[in-house]
Amino acid sequence: MIFNILNTVRDSIKGIKPYSSARDEFNGDAETYLDANENPYSSVVNRYPDPMQIELKAAIAKIHAVALDEIFLGNGSDEVIDLCYRAFCEPGLDRVVAISPSYGMYSVSAEINNVQLDNFLLNNDFSLDVERLIDFAKGAKFIFLCSPNNPTGNTIPKTDVVAICQAFNGLVILDEAYIDFSTDESLIPLINQFPNLLICQTFSKAYGMAGIRLGKAFGDSSIIAWLNKIKPPYNLGTLTIDFALNALKNTTHFEAQKEEIIRERTNMFDFLSNSPAILKVFPSEANFILVRVESANNLYAQMIKKGIIVRNRSNQPLCENCLRITIGTPQENERVKEFLKTQL
Ligand SMILES: *Cc1c(COP(=O)(O)O)cnc(C)c1O
Repeated sequence: MIFNILNTVRDSIKGIKPYSSARDEFNGDAETYLDANENPYSSVVNRYPDPMQIELKAAIAKIHAVALDEIFLGNGSDEVIDLCYRAFCEPGLDRVVAISPSYGMYSVSAEINNVQLDNFLLNNDFSLDVERLIDFAKGAKFIFLCSPNNPTGNTIPKTDVVAICQAFNGLVILDEAYIDFSTDESLIPLINQFPNLLICQTFSKAYGMAGIRLGKAFGDSSIIAWLNKIKPPYNLGTLTIDFALNALKNTTHFEAQKEEIIRERTNMFDFLSNSPAILKVFPSEANFILVRVESANNLYAQMIKKGIIVRNRSNQPLCENCLRITIGTPQENERVKEFLKTQL
């Protein structure tokens, strides 16, 4: 199948002329900047940030072995998701597909943009029926996949993603927010093979920077160009860009934290598997574990009384009486264990 992004872009976006900022029109080096109505007195933030975030993209390009024009940076992955709807979906007309259960922002963003989102239910063991999905998604503008998936914790095999990219005539948006915690490799190398694959990652989870709001998307430069065309000109602030650049200079402590979280996940999995209060523990490749209990509402309320907040996922499809427990520090995890020991 020959994929052409122009068949996916909204008609009303095709002809749009992006806002040209002062920093777009002149981006060399000069002594006197009187083009952007900024306050001339120097502080860290008196100047507008680089609208294309070139320095940060260069650092990220090196880490992931991609080209600068294959990277889009957003105000969290949430901005990337929203921009995809705005670039590719005609409100009230187009439809998209997401696996279900999965991340809530896919449907919230669909509603905000008045786009129909059709949920494709996973199998009972949270695996994906690829053939049926491909059939189900015919005519949709894009498919959201999430691997490792939130809240189920399992991954989608590479062969499945490849089969979907090959057979589907729209965009495949693969959310890899939790990929750093997984034994599966990121599928970023596949963007060179499939011009309809967009992969999202984030600084919010393994990289420990949820507070700066920084999401990344990787894809063929033809997709990335459309996101750049419609994004708010200065979508990332100077503080976010500088903080991330600085953090990327040395990532060894993130690696160490990640290893500890993975070790703790194994401990927690073993503990939960042997706890009489837990009916089922779902294996996880992310930094959380989904469990099924007798009454999720009841246990959730009791945990709150002890000051332990987990996520009640009971009202999600296939997640009846399920709680999602984030892996914390060893001390925090110990509190969960001590609490569960008092149950039953
Ligand atoms: C946490 C999470 C994100 C992160 O979103 P940001 O806006 O980058 O913080 C993205 N996708 C999934 C599935 C998540 O669980």
